[in-house]
Amino acid sequence: MRQAFGAGVLLWVAVFLPAFLFAPRQPDKPHPLLESEQQVSATVEISRGSDSEQTLRLWEEGTVREMAVEEYLRGVLRAEMGGAFHMEALKAQTVAERTYLYYQMAAGAKAAHPSADVCADPGCCTAYLAEEGAREKWGAAFEEYEQNIRLAVSETDNQVMYYEGEPIMAVFHSSSAGVTATSGEVWTADLPYLVSVESPESADTVPNYHSVNTFSAEEFRTRFTARYPDAKLTGETAAWIKDVIHSDTGRVESAVVGGVSVTGQELRSVFSLRSTAFTVETGADSVTFRVTGYGHGVGMSQYGANTLAQEGKSWQEILQWYYTGITIDDYTGR
Ligand SMILES: [Zn+2]
Repeated sequence: MRQAFGAGVLLWVAVFLPAFLFAPRQPDKPHPLLESEQQVSATVEISRGSDSEQTLRLWEEGTVREMAVEEYLRGVLRAEMGGAFHMEALKAQTVAERTYLYYQMAAGAKAAHPSADVCADPGCCTAYLAEEGAREKWGAAFEEYEQNIRLAVSETDNQVMYYEGEPIMAVFHSSSAGVTATSGEVWTADLPYLVSVESPESADTVPNYHSVNTFSAEEFRTRFTARYPDAKLTGETAAWIKDVIHSDTGRVESAVVGGVSVTGQELRSVFSLRSTAFTVETGADSVTFRVTGYGHGVGMSQYGANTLAQEGKSWQEILQWYYTGITIDDYTGR
């Protein structure tokens, strides 16, 4: 499944639940240890591996490059969120990325790149932006943003979200329309940690939170019939679109267009809408979509995470807000 990519729109890979062995511990609670015990604790930490010691193979522009997980996560964070978000949102995003990485690696190499764990194509895996690319893109803001990126990764070193002992499919999106979508609304499977929750971002804090796409009747017909040639789009424009059904979370589930039944996601794709949270109006010679939010709507909303962070929530609280029933712990699966 492909869709137009924008910042923070992580795309679907097949659901696969790896069988990890998992030893629970409490990594985030500082204990009043004696100095010698701290020494021991540090040694144990190293033997478990951390972002700088774990490696992966990244497929980018036709070559496979082995790199530390730390470097990879910085690249994904630069591409998927950038360096301007609140630090707690950046940390939440980093842990989502790390979790998604290990979830993907447990599923095994994809047919698209059998010799690499992940690629830099957001239509396949996750977007990636190397340091040099960010330096060009961010200009004068580079030093500040890069410092934030590095801090977010190092301060959440090796932390991963688990559900029933396995790293979760930690998908995320840019912004939601009041509430997030369930995984079953967008893909085939309902997952217990990807249920609909409230998301606090609004037009005050999200650029282009509301967007409008208007097509002339002719444009609408041309676009739709290119994908669905059986559609009969003749006569009154007002009669072209029928039976628009919204889900419980306010997104378009399905509609009948020119006699052809399509899903909200198919309409989103055909008309390049920013999300499936839309209403549709037909005029005498036009069709208008009014859209809220950006992305598939499942899992963490990046702008919602930023709002929660500004309200004083920690990265752990943000992740527990968006991923229901998860625990956060060291990664121990390799
Ligand atoms: Zn890939």
